[in-house]
Amino acid sequence: TKWVYTFGDGSAEGRAGDKSLLGGKGANLAEMCNLGLPVPPGFTITTEACNWYYANGKTYPDDLREQVEAALGHIARITGRRFGDPERLLLVSVRSGARASMPGMMDTVLNLGLNDVTVEALARDSGDERFAYDSYRRFIQMYSNVVLGLDHEMFEEILEEEKARMGYELDTEFSAGDWRVVVDSYKARIEEELPDGFPQQPEEQLWGAIGAVFSSWMNARAITYRRLHDIPESWGTAVNVQAMVFGNMGDTSATGVAFTRNPSTGEKALYGEFLVNAQGEDVVAGIRTPQNITERARIDAGSDKPSLQKLMPQVFSDFVGICERLEKHYRDMQDVEFTIERGKLWMLQTRSGKRTARAALKIAVDMANEELISQEEAVARIDPASLDQLLHPTIDPKAKRDVIGVGLPASPGAATGEIVFTSEEAEDARQSGRKVILVRVETSPEDIHGMHAAEGILTTRGGMTSHAAVVARGMGKPCVSGAGSLRVDYRSETLIAAGRTLKKGDIITIDGGNGQVLAGAVDMLQPELSGDFAAIMEWADKARRMKVRANAETPADARMARSFGAEGIGLCRTEHMFFEGDRIIAMREMILAADEKGRRAALAKLLPMQRSDFVELFEIMAGLPVTIRLLDPPLHEFLPKTEKEFEEVAHVLGVPAETLRHRSEALHEFNPMLGHRGCRLAVSYPEIAEMQARAIFEAAVQAGRDTGKPVVPEVMVPLVGLKTELDFVKARIDEVARNVMEETGETIEYLTGTMIELPRAAVRAHVIAESAEFFSFGTNDLTQTTFGISRDDAAMFLETYRKKGMLEQDPFVSIDVDGVGELVRMATEKGRTTRPAIKLGICGEHGGDPASIRFCEEVGLDYVSCSPFRVPIARLAAAQAAV
Ligand code: ADP
Ligand code: MG
Ligand code: MG
Repeated sequence: TKWVYTFGDGSAEGRAGDKSLLGGKGANLAEMCNLGLPVPPGFTITTEACNWYYANGKTYPDDLREQVEAALGHIARITGRRFGDPERLLLVSVRSGARASMPGMMDTVLNLGLNDVTVEALARDSGDERFAYDSYRRFIQMYSNVVLGLDHEMFEEILEEEKARMGYELDTEFSAGDWRVVVDSYKARIEEELPDGFPQQPEEQLWGAIGAVFSSWMNARAITYRRLHDIPESWGTAVNVQAMVFGNMGDTSATGVAFTRNPSTGEKALYGEFLVNAQGEDVVAGIRTPQNITERARIDAGSDKPSLQKLMPQVFSDFVGICERLEKHYRDMQDVEFTIERGKLWMLQTRSGKRTARAALKIAVDMANEELISQEEAVARIDPASLDQLLHPTIDPKAKRDVIGVGLPASPGAATGEIVFTSEEAEDARQSGRKVILVRVETSPEDIHGMHAAEGILTTRGGMTSHAAVVARGMGKPCVSGAGSLRVDYRSETLIAAGRTLKKGDIITIDGGNGQVLAGAVDMLQPELSGDFAAIMEWADKARRMKVRANAETPADARMARSFGAEGIGLCRTEHMFFEGDRIIAMREMILAADEKGRRAALAKLLPMQRSDFVELFEIMAGLPVTIRLLDPPLHEFLPKTEKEFEEVAHVLGVPAETLRHRSEALHEFNPMLGHRGCRLAVSYPEIAEMQARAIFEAAVQAGRDTGKPVVPEVMVPLVGLKTELDFVKARIDEVARNVMEETGETIEYLTGTMIELPRAAVRAHVIAESAEFFSFGTNDLTQTTFGISRDDAAMFLETYRKKGMLEQDPFVSIDVDGVGELVRMATEKGRTTRPAIKLGICGEHGGDPASIRFCEEVGLDYVSCSPFRVPIARLAAAQAAV
């Protein structure tokens, strides 16, 4: 088997496409050689050798040694130097390199091959004894730490002691003799720990380092990192062995890192830093303050240290040329590492550079305009989830943060406001024009109006899928959940942090991007849909097949959805409308009514309010489709909870508190999620559905007249399991429609359909489709009912499942393709057999999740519907799924 691939001197055995075999670093080193760029020669031991190593009890394949020796011979032919030969000294670096860049792997070992004899040779060769001993002590330190597993601190201590003894401040003050002393102390100290002392044989050093790279694949940090980033263990890591070049050979030598474009703004300008007379990672490690590469960056930074452009103009212009070539070749912004040895430039690494969401947009659009990439590629390059950063206000990175606690980053964006502890206070405050943060131990469905009124939500209990987190994400409101170090005391109306107590009315800021809770107000940056953002969206719209709608019921949300490009409403949750203001009173009257007549009387009060809601929504959506779901939650949710509230409500309704309590007890259910809700309500109380249908149709007529654009409402019946349920409700809807048409003299076009959110509905979809003109997959409930878990309680054990590797992802965040997805697929196929033109969509949180959107495209749904803030994300994800 071929385990070793060489590179150097204008050619290589591998290329950029060989990342799975050679790792990212090795494949790109090979590619740079093939391009004829100056790269120190070397070789890559494949990831397959790593896998072999683990499959065979941590041993090497027989033929590996001879291949490594041959490859060292290859370096010797190019450099005229031989590994281990003091006459013509060759030193190497040993660098790990997995397919995906992975912190947690072994650090690089530089200057490998030095020992007590070769260090003298290096001094002689370079004519610089100080450099030679500096390199040797660096090597001992690095090797002892990453290969021998000795504590880094041990060496730092010795260095500090010597420094103090000699009265120096900086490492640069050390003379050759001083470094010799340090080297001796290092070696003596190592002998105390390891009887064999520091290995002197270059051969032994090399295999020690190779073994350490392979072993690091299974160290705890690497395993954790892989788990968090879904990197399979089977990938293995490659090892790169490369001839050393020296950035620490005096003032004409240097080392640096650069991005071919600005990684935070995306601006097309080389951006990077370097250090004169330094080696390897001195730049990143912050040992000295690095210098700017370009003159412009130096001026911008107000630095008085000369730029590379000024200091070494020839090297600079070579470097600029290489960066341009690399960018053209890879057709992407590159992150490069380089070293200058006595005025000669060497390239040591290139890879696609990490960038902020803003920079990603600018770079993609610029590159498309430069015709480096196509518009479709530009669209494909943006991570849809990263757009979230740009769609909310964020804390100015320059602002000072007074952190009083940290929770989970449950919903992105930052918000500032006065502390309030109840939803009622939140609402009152908003009405008087004040901004508030709703602070609760946890939230429940009754807090919806308070959450709407608040700028942001903070809870001290609950996870990423808690009620607060889910609802806040849906609303696009910043939320920090489960901030356990903070305590809410409702009685004294205080928020208690370590050593501090805040009162109701005090100002706090929450950062939903990182979970921080800050005291006071902080400067914010407002979301800006810049020209680049708009351009990418436009190109995405050309590429996608599925439509994107929004889940919205308030006029504000509907307007926001449209401004973000929503093509209709996929889910209007009518119950949210009943919580607002006086409506809850009429709703409660209806619930308390003794008979149908009483209910009809209360519903008559709700009708005009509901109708005006729909008129407004239809007008905002101006002819775009609007799907309205009939009342869904159990009635119990509309009743008060606490004794105090019972008294108050009883007073307002003019009934004895006892009556209210009785009704509440009668409505109580052990499993409300599986209880008297959805179309079951319409079966028990058809008059509710009739009122809603009337409101919808009357509003459609009015909005049609007002805007001159016909409205085609889509009436959606929730939680259907039986066709008979749908037929029962549909008969009522159709009758109301006929009546409204007769009364108004207008024809109303409308569709009646159902949510598919029970496994039975999916299984019987071909039958249900006889009556349903559309299906909307309610994947939140479908996930609950398919798994048999409740979202409100699942967070605690789902996390355990994930930790134990039993479940890869939270099925409420990304659709469970194998189970829930299979039901969606089945229902789609069955529905289409009965009704080929049936309209199919998805609503619920999955509609805004890129992976789930990909699945929807595969299954061939007509649209996805998500919260207004996620509409741009969904537009992009739908485009990426389509190409
Ligand atoms: P990482 O993956 O952590 O960036 P690298 O293998 O790229 O680790 O190496 C760390 C540092 O050592 C980089 O700054 C790199 O440029 C430098 N380096 C690696 N190999 C050599 C070499 N052969 N000659 C000089 N410097 C090197
Ligand atoms: Mg590197
Ligand atoms: Mg549902």
